[in-house]
Amino acid sequence: MERYFWHLNTRQADGMACVVCNADFLNTKITSVPVGRSPADESQVFACKDPCAAVIADEADRMAREMRAAAGTDDEGGADRDDPVFSVDGHFGSLLRDLRTLAGTEALLATSDDIPTIRFLLGLTARHAETAMMRARLVLARTKENGQE
Ligand SMILES: [Zn+2]
Repeated sequence: MERYFWHLNTRQADGMACVVCNADFLNTKITSVPVGRSPADESQVFACKDPCAAVIADEADRMAREMRAAAGTDDEGGADRDDPVFSVDGHFGSLLRDLRTLAGTEALLATSDDIPTIRFLLGLTARHAETAMMRARLVLARTKENGQE
């Protein structure tokens, strides 16, 4: 996972304690899962599988929703993304949503000076730029098939 966790104590940064509740993984039977990295040395950091990992996931979800809302793309369900049989209109609509997200991300990046937020926005940019490229190519391929040949 790409997420960085900041303000960790030594034990958390070394992966020996939960980054959320600071539970001691060495001396307890708590199941831990990798949830991201320490910005200091890129080493993996961990959280209790239950409930701390879920808390982190919820937080990331909420952040993503806020970003999408800020970018004006909160209607993006993602359900159509795995459907192999959807129309050019479907691809085209998704492409427009990607482009709107990128425009919104640009606006947020221009005003943000918080490194975790900037990193989150850059991740968002990379993902949507990539899907925008694939969708643009799909639409190009479809329009060629249907139109010119
Ligand atoms: Zn925990």
